[in-house]
Amino acid sequence: MFKKKECDICGSTDREIIYSSKKISQNSSYFVTEENLSHPSRIARCNNCGFIFAIPSEDPNVFFNAYIKMVDEKYVEEEFGRRLSARSILRKLNRFKKSGNKLLDIGCCTGFLLDEARNMGWDTSGVELSTWASRYATEKFNLKIYNMPLEKVVFPNEYFDIIIMQDTIEHLQYPRQALLEANRILKTNGILYINTPDIVSFTSKILKAKWWGINQFHLYYFSKKSLSEILNLSGFVVLKYDAYARIFTLNYWSERFRNYNSIIYRILKIVIRIKIFKKSFLRVNLRDQVEVFARKVVSKNKSYE
Ligand SMILES: [Zn+2]
Repeated sequence: MFKKKECDICGSTDREIIYSSKKISQNSSYFVTEENLSHPSRIARCNNCGFIFAIPSEDPNVFFNAYIKMVDEKYVEEEFGRRLSARSILRKLNRFKKSGNKLLDIGCCTGFLLDEARNMGWDTSGVELSTWASRYATEKFNLKIYNMPLEKVVFPNEYFDIIIMQDTIEHLQYPRQALLEANRILKTNGILYINTPDIVSFTSKILKAKWWGINQFHLYYFSKKSLSEILNLSGFVVLKYDAYARIFTLNYWSERFRNYNSIIYRILKIVIRIKIFKKSFLRVNLRDQVEVFARKVVSKNKSYE
């Protein structure tokens, strides 16, 4: 049983259940591209600070093992679009860059972003739990990947200039611990980039529990407010918020819409039949994935526990 008594931001145990599912989740395997992941059994809101988090019925090891065993061929089929998205993130990061060229991607999957970053002159490292994904990144692109949890790597203090966490923080069991570790290994004035589903976005509010941001592997549901709070507690100041756009083939988008909007799904399926659109890329910004650029301003040497 997952014992999650305290809010990861304010430490309060006073919370209210805002969603509960009677269905016991059956999925114990994880795919980045899976559209039909189960819901968490319960989602709570902290009555003190408003932070929203899941109270899963699964043992934390279920998640951990699922990430280690993750194999996702569909993920690599969208390599071109994922590289375009990565270049867009890296270009934005360049605007905040001061000096140095050491970049870490936490939860780097198959290393597309790292490969793009290296092409732009960054000295790159990646951390990834999936054995398949880290092997892919190492063998195909000859990248430096640590196939283990972040805290097991033990990077030196104040080592990196940029740390990236794409679609990662919402999966972590203790996000504040991870941000404190990011603080330790990032140089003062270094930049932390995070993107994560935005629980207070228009799309989330309209789709409610049907929103793709809600699934059993997402343990935390951030907003700009909660991101600012957890980042400040971890020694960072927010420089900028933006909405993250995703770039995929029309075919991928049509599959994503299959469960949400049958009209959009059918229109896209018809368009894809026209040969020249088959491999076309579509940049979509639903404004439900928030991205944040934060600067490390204080060194936090102590664990919060
Ligand atoms: Zn709280």
